Amino acid sequence: MNKNEILNLLESNTPDVLIQADKIRKQYVGDEIHLRGLIEFSNICARTCQYCGLRYENKNIIRYRLSADEIIQLAQIGKKSGLQTIVLQSGEDNYFSTDKLCHIIQEIKKLDVALTLSIGEKSYQEYKAYKEAGADRYLLRIETTDKNLYKKLHPNMSFENRMECLYNLKDLGYETGTGCLVGLPGQTLDSLAEDILFFKKLDADMIGIGPFIPHPDTPLGGANVDLTANLDLSIRVMAVTRILLKDINIPATTAMETINPNGRILALNSGANVVMPNITDDIHKKEYEIYPDKNNENLDSLISKIKSIGRFVAFTKGFRKKI
Ligand code: SAH
Repeated sequence: MNKNEILNLLESNTPDVLIQADKIRKQYVGDEIHLRGLIEFSNICARTCQYCGLRYENKNIIRYRLSADEIIQLAQIGKKSGLQTIVLQSGEDNYFSTDKLCHIIQEIKKLDVALTLSIGEKSYQEYKAYKEAGADRYLLRIETTDKNLYKKLHPNMSFENRMECLYNLKDLGYETGTGCLVGLPGQTLDSLAEDILFFKKLDADMIGIGPFIPHPDTPLGGANVDLTANLDLSIRVMAVTRILLKDINIPATTAMETINPNGRILALNSGANVVMPNITDDIHKKEYEIYPDKNNENLDSLISKIKSIGRFVAFTKGFRKKI
């Protein structure tokens, strides 16, 4: 598919592309759904991303940081409930040195689970150390491939460095996940088509696509966005991504479910094959407020939803099976 073809699919108003994505999903990755237990272990962040509630300059947020033991305990609880992947996510919290993180990684890997990190931009050496400690996967969304928009949204950050991080992760043998936000002020369909082409070029193993949801305590808090339109478009971007990258893992993201209580099902029926239940404790999951009213559906309710659409929870760790 070239850019014009992608653009045509993004512009079309028919469900055809969603139906096609669902067929390809079934053919390449089947009816099983992989669950990834998400632990949001710190909302302390040194960055100032204009859309994110965790941004350093937001003073209206209760900050927290879990201890190594608390993180490991949550992972144990996740494993006991049958989860086979643990995802550690946080703001860019410099308290967690390489040594501290490697200790946590090693302890969690003793549980015989796959381990994903989503902790932002680090050096090649740091990524290498986490990999050697046992980390299997890494999630780092490029957020947008529109360089000018990227610059506006990420003061004091470098688009080139974020790209380099992604290629470093690939180089180190991580299953590498990236993705983008959809519906950002100033974002064009053209740039979303470029995002999808970038996912293909990187040969990403996992793509997470989320609708932008304004957070009142951020510079973009007053942005005039149509949340339903953002959800529809993000599902469409996700579907086109499935059509192009047939065998990868694609989550039905929490932001989709936050906009519409049926968002996850819509996504699972339009190309998605992964769900990431939040297993952070109840107090802290509320404080990890990247956007308001984040959906926090529990594991049991998620599993019944999955069954209600004729799908089932996978028995494996859910690595990408490259075809
Ligand atoms: N610090 C890590 C994790 C960031 S939070 C990192 O840099 O990768 C995880 C994701 O939340 C981000 O990649 C971003 O795409 C998403 N996010 C942040 N603010 C958001 C908002 N207002 N609406 C929707 N998604 C948002």
